[in-house]
Amino acid sequence: QSANSKEDVEKYQIKELLHKLPRLDKIFEVHRKIGEGTFSSVYLGSLRQHATLPDSEKRWFAIKHLVPTAHPARIEHELRCLQDMGGKHHVIGVELCLRNLDTIVFIMPYIPHKKFSEYVGEMDAGELRQYMRALLTALRHVHSFGVIHRDVKPSNFLYDRDNRRYLLVDFGLAQRLCPAPEEPPALPALPAPPPAHSNGLRKRTREEEDASAAKRVALDLSTGRPVATAAAPREPPPGGPFVPASPTVPASPAVPASPAVPASPAAHAGRARCACSGVGGVCGACLARAPPRAPRAGTQGFRPPEVLLKYPQQTTAVDVWAAGVVLASALTARYPFFRAGDDVAALAELADLLGTAPLQRAAEALGRRVVTSAARRGLCLRKLAARLRGPAPAPGAAGPACTTCRLPENQCLCRDEMKKADEFSPARSVAGFPDAAFALAARLLEPDPRARISAHDALQHPFLAAD
Ligand code: ADP
Ligand code: MG
Repeated sequence: QSANSKEDVEKYQIKELLHKLPRLDKIFEVHRKIGEGTFSSVYLGSLRQHATLPDSEKRWFAIKHLVPTAHPARIEHELRCLQDMGGKHHVIGVELCLRNLDTIVFIMPYIPHKKFSEYVGEMDAGELRQYMRALLTALRHVHSFGVIHRDVKPSNFLYDRDNRRYLLVDFGLAQRLCPAPEEPPALPALPAPPPAHSNGLRKRTREEEDASAAKRVALDLSTGRPVATAAAPREPPPGGPFVPASPTVPASPAVPASPAVPASPAAHAGRARCACSGVGGVCGACLARAPPRAPRAGTQGFRPPEVLLKYPQQTTAVDVWAAGVVLASALTARYPFFRAGDDVAALAELADLLGTAPLQRAAEALGRRVVTSAARRGLCLRKLAARLRGPAPAPGAAGPACTTCRLPENQCLCRDEMKKADEFSPARSVAGFPDAAFALAARLLEPDPRARISAHDALQHPFLAAD
């Protein structure tokens, strides 16, 4: 019954869309809904003139209907991204854009694809290499335009497994790189905070807002200045468990606070934890500060430390981190990989995986401080992948106990302190993946965005450069 009613609702939505946009109806047959996100519904379409052809000979399209409440500037920017960058290097292009009043659709080539969760555990090393190569090629291309995608995740990187085709889609949250300030401000001084809703661009004046509202009906989408999106944070995807299978309790990072940059009152979720106060209070300097503001558009589970720590000058490294999360997912056959529901819990997951010291060092480089209730050594992605993909360790198997987690050696998942995360042995493989794949994951998941590898350099990494 519910399947029926869902179908009925979709049919009604299609009918309504065609009614509002008669030109769409004239050119295309709209068959069914194939995707739905926060800002759009996506339908499968084919040309009316192909109606009599067999399905295999039809040209198929994805018809993205933007929610009518989306800001015109946001839609304009998304279209501009598709026009400027799309159609090559595994980045989606746009064939046509139709508008009538507030009904706007982008018509794009359709790529058949399955859900990531259906193949995440099936990809072998060769397939994963090709997949990551395609993702990083798409990112290198986007980044060469000075654009951050900001929502890199499997549901925005469509994979046609049968034909090994890939498409990076959804530039709805994309953001132009803000030029770096000429004189980098001394660490304690935070740059003038951009308004929370503007994704890093200056706030528009009242007059501009009015003009834009007036333009809303008459907006010509093929012309006009590209403006970055007014981005709303997206909801986390429905998820399974975060998998570190950590024998330890997750660390609980307290507020990001630095003595020089006292955390904002907003950041003091638990006031008693204020690093610059006595127990139970917040110092006057902390209370007087405006909350730090920084873009945080994206999807929970894919946000890097600089976003979680509200660092304002975010770069294309944001996307590279997300690609690292995708790689970690594929190596451990777990999706979603992180599943925290809020930023503080997300920082706790990062502390669990990376270790508290590397996260704290990265935070310090960004002028933030992460305080945790307990130190974490971090988890070894290799051990994690072996454990999650391989047989469970034999019960009772002995071995010298790990000094950190106190588990026998064959059960311990702790990061090896003697070994740098990005070192690898060319001859070794773990859980069927070359050691280099784990080394690349460590470079993509580098907590300090300035030290994180770029998409360009990642493509030269031994894991991806290998045949
Ligand atoms: P949103 O901004 O709402 O997330 P997306 O552009 O990500 O919109 O599209 C939502 C979903 O629609 C995608 O996750 C995908 O399943 C489907 N989709 C989008 N574009 C295409 C396409 N070109 N081919 C096939 N499916 C697509
Ligand atoms: Mg999407």
